[in-house]
Amino acid sequence: MWGSRLFEKKKSAPGVGGRPEEFLPSGGEIHYLYWYMQGSIMVPSVRDQLRRAWGFCERHAWAAIYVEASFRHGYFHGPAILYADLLSRALPAFRFRGPGKELRLGRHLREKGACIMCEMRLGPKTAGMANPEIVERGQDPTELKRFARKTQPHWQRTICGRCAGTSALERCRPHLLEDLSRATALDLRFHRSFLESIFHHLRIYERSFRYEFQDTETDEDTAALISAVGWCSGWRPFLTLMGNAP
Ligand SMILES: [Zn+2]
Ligand SMILES: [Zn+2]
Repeated sequence: MWGSRLFEKKKSAPGVGGRPEEFLPSGGEIHYLYWYMQGSIMVPSVRDQLRRAWGFCERHAWAAIYVEASFRHGYFHGPAILYADLLSRALPAFRFRGPGKELRLGRHLREKGACIMCEMRLGPKTAGMANPEIVERGQDPTELKRFARKTQPHWQRTICGRCAGTSALERCRPHLLEDLSRATALDLRFHRSFLESIFHHLRIYERSFRYEFQDTETDEDTAALISAVGWCSGWRPFLTLMGNAP
């Protein structure tokens, strides 16, 4: 069931090699992210929906980071909290033991609800209410690219091989689900320690927003935010934006 759903999703998802413009947040998406998302991320019902969907769909996960970078100059406190929470919820499932552990891991990692922005019918063509200056600023990739370039050596090692079309063994969550649904022999310890490493660095980054831990984060810790977004939702919009890195 979830395997076929993912397959459908993959068919419609633009792969690496698409045009960066395809992934530009629309006016409507920018309006929502600019006015509502930051404040509502802690609202229990929103938080619940984000947990059930493992964040957002692939498009909206990166749109949210894009807009956050443009307006908050890379001050990613909200996303750091969100993704540290999501990864902390994913990791215990990698410790399932016994027969059927792959099946249970798959059940745990699949989405239980829709992306909150898709549900609001926000898409690439939604005009929305944002004024032209806000839209222009929200679509300016400069800040996200600056953030990404600075941390690239670290997140680059965590790109999903399927998203990038390489032989890398790392998998994002959606592609790990595909592998699990195919009953391919998987080294779950590898995937667990891969995710643990991202989580370890992300927690240091998240902590660095607290006054007493200011400036304790390294570029490697900061890069874990990009790795976490890629893991939860897939990498393709981001890789396209970055000129199909690697
Ligand atoms: Zn969505
Ligand atoms: Zn992937």
